[in-house]
Amino acid sequence: MIYDVAIAGYGPTGMLAAILLGRAGHRVVVLERYKSLYNLPRVGIVHDDVLRMFQEVGCLEKIGPATFFLPLYELSNKGRVLLSNEVATHATHGHPEMTSIYQPAFEAELDAIAKSIATIDVLQGETIVALDQDAEGVTLTSESDAGQRVTRARYVIGADGGNSFVRQALGIAYDDLGFDQNWLVIDGRATRAPRADLPLLRQFCEPEQPGMTMQMGPYHRRWSFMIFPGESAEDAVTPANVWRRLARPEGATPDEFELIRVVAYKFQSLMAQGWRKDRVFLAGDAAHQMPPFLAQGMCSGFRDAHNIAWKLDLVLKGLATRSLLDSYEREREPNARATIVESMKVGQNVNERDPDKVRARDAQLIALNEARRNGTASAQLIAFRVPGFADGFIAKTGEGAGQAFPQATVRRDGRTGLFDDIAGRGFMILSRSGDPLSVLSPLDRQFWAALGGSAVVLGAPGLIDESGDLTHLMDALGCDVLIKRPDNYIYGTGARLADLPALVGRMREQLA
Ligand SMILES: Cc1cc2nc3c(=O)[nH]c(=O)nc-3n(C[C@H](O)[C@H](O)[C@H](O)COP(=O)(O)OP(=O)(O)OC[C@H]3O[C@@H](n4cnc5c(N)ncnc54)[C@H](O)[C@@H]3O)c2cc1C
Repeated sequence: MIYDVAIAGYGPTGMLAAILLGRAGHRVVVLERYKSLYNLPRVGIVHDDVLRMFQEVGCLEKIGPATFFLPLYELSNKGRVLLSNEVATHATHGHPEMTSIYQPAFEAELDAIAKSIATIDVLQGETIVALDQDAEGVTLTSESDAGQRVTRARYVIGADGGNSFVRQALGIAYDDLGFDQNWLVIDGRATRAPRADLPLLRQFCEPEQPGMTMQMGPYHRRWSFMIFPGESAEDAVTPANVWRRLARPEGATPDEFELIRVVAYKFQSLMAQGWRKDRVFLAGDAAHQMPPFLAQGMCSGFRDAHNIAWKLDLVLKGLATRSLLDSYEREREPNARATIVESMKVGQNVNERDPDKVRARDAQLIALNEARRNGTASAQLIAFRVPGFADGFIAKTGEGAGQAFPQATVRRDGRTGLFDDIAGRGFMILSRSGDPLSVLSPLDRQFWAALGGSAVVLGAPGLIDESGDLTHLMDALGCDVLIKRPDNYIYGTGARLADLPALVGRMREQLA
């Protein structure tokens, strides 16, 4: 028995990759060393594109009760708010820019979905101990209570986290981008009515004790504090030291919160020196690790899974040659790298301990806050937007290729809702000047149908752009037609509908 894809690791990255590939009809096996789900939170916040992926796999509504909208992101110094920023309720992908979430709840939903797909085998309690590949496939050897097992697959995704066995077996080292701090992470659950005075999301920019607190889903709260150089992690996690650090206005007392997890983490900035060797790909923390100041670690892993899944799908179905798989690293590495670098910058800024630099930073933030209030500065605190792709599987002509395709609110046949639910997913041609299929040759139409592509006309009697986002996008890009990829990035655009055959032709060349 040879599987199409074997996935090492059943963390969030592995779960999403398994679901997307299993849904596409491929035989998938997941090998996970733990016997059951970890059931404790690491992730605290997800961004709008991740909610769009939950929407895609069909669990957005179910995880709703485990989420909490964080309307404000504050930076403070000893209780004085330096900067208070509103979080956008409707960001690019049609969901709030940041949403607080309780990880065990969404992992339970992803687990249920993966296990409901007949073509996916989830094998928990299997630790991978060897990996070999040849021209036809990859052999994974794993160990469990039942003994040793050998699994064959055409492709492997190494989503086995920061200490990735797969990465090491491939002989791929990490580049260290320079961030290295020990932090104490304290997760608690309120045992009384939640305290209304606790900030929903606040970074403590205090040189004496850099830290943060946030509401995590509706019922939990996290605090994190820097562990100082010279202080041991073992000492920091002792109850006495935990409650000492929590004895502050934005903290807690033992009669208000029970602690569900206290752990010391090394916040690092690491990038794998390569993301692929032949038939084996790295994804998630196995490929990159970042300090969590922008809450982008798992989000980046989700982006990896979303990117590699549709490419493997096309290759396994014989709709693309294996060279399509080269675009995975070319697209994802620069994007993840930019995200790591920005996470480090934010971390260094909020954790500054040099008194002169702290004074300068505080003055700058206060001035920015003032300017925001007067309407003379951008309302966005975190100017960083996850970049698109400059290289990879995109048409190199036309504006907008490689940038995110936003999720508008649209209406069709009396139904109003988010674009993906109303218009559909996968490859899509979107035109605002007539039926796109009418300008394609029979051969191109056949090609498009084989890809599972759809064609949507914007404007009555077709799809109505209720929120105006699509019209705004097409005006900004100066295009009447565009092609969207399954992972919600733009493949390419054409100023006129007549440019579409050239775009589709380019795509056929790239896949052939
Ligand atoms: C304090 C903290 C806060 C964070 N907050 C956020 C946040 O708010 N938002 C965000 O997006 N990210 C956040 N992150 C980052 C996020 O937790 C990680 O990026 C994410 O968990 C990575 O997911 P993954 O699936 O790639 O790896 P993991 O979650 O590490 O999963 C890897 C899996 O592989 C399994 N495995 C390992 N070795 C083997 C083997 N040999 N055989 C079989 N299985 C194996 C492991 O048991 C594990 O289940 C935070 C991280 C920390 C530390």
